Amino acid sequence: MSEIKSVCVYCGSSAQVAEGFKQAASALGEIFAQAGIRVVFGGGRVGLMGLVSDATMEHGGTVIGIIPEHIAEKEIAHSGLTELHVVETMHERKQMMVDRADAFIILPGGLGTMDEFFEIFTWWQLGLHDKPIIIVNLDGYWDSLLALVDNIITQGFARPADREYLTVINRIDEVLDALERAPQEKIDVKTKWI
Ligand code: AMP
Repeated sequence: MSEIKSVCVYCGSSAQVAEGFKQAASALGEIFAQAGIRVVFGGGRVGLMGLVSDATMEHGGTVIGIIPEHIAEKEIAHSGLTELHVVETMHERKQMMVDRADAFIILPGGLGTMDEFFEIFTWWQLGLHDKPIIIVNLDGYWDSLLALVDNIITQGFARPADREYLTVINRIDEVLDALERAPQEKIDVKTKWI
């Protein structure tokens, strides 16, 4: 596995969530700062997004935020990051986040987080990247998402290999180990249905 130097964190922009999720977001930022792993995220200072980035900065880490103009105000762009990029569109933001990361971490989040997860999962499925995808399933938060993926496979709309590419952990302190052992392989899209 090539060395992971930069991780894109997808997570909720809401703060009206369980205390345990907030603590986990802060703990994740601290872990990455101490491990010297750069954090790439959506650039807002609200919700779990704000907590991950604050904790990374507070512990001397590096954070790159990428936020589109039209939501910069709503999500209140974080002004204390190593770099903040204000881009024009959501597509630009998402592409830039993917390009700058060596791996993806999915913390609990809402609809935006799910969209981001499915995008990088399907981009892997199409052979567009070979970066590890780690789902942090705190308190079983993502159980229903994983059940949905399993059902998609059972019904024949995706392959067991797709599910196997996802690394699922239950605790934040498993994240560095998960990055070490997560699969990192590009699929040959021609073999997708063969
Ligand atoms: P949420 O999980 O809904 O709190 O959103 C988390 C992040 O996803 C925020 O930075 C949102 O700007 C972003 N987001 C929300 N909706 C979308 C979407 N349709 N596509 C991509 N990102 C989104």
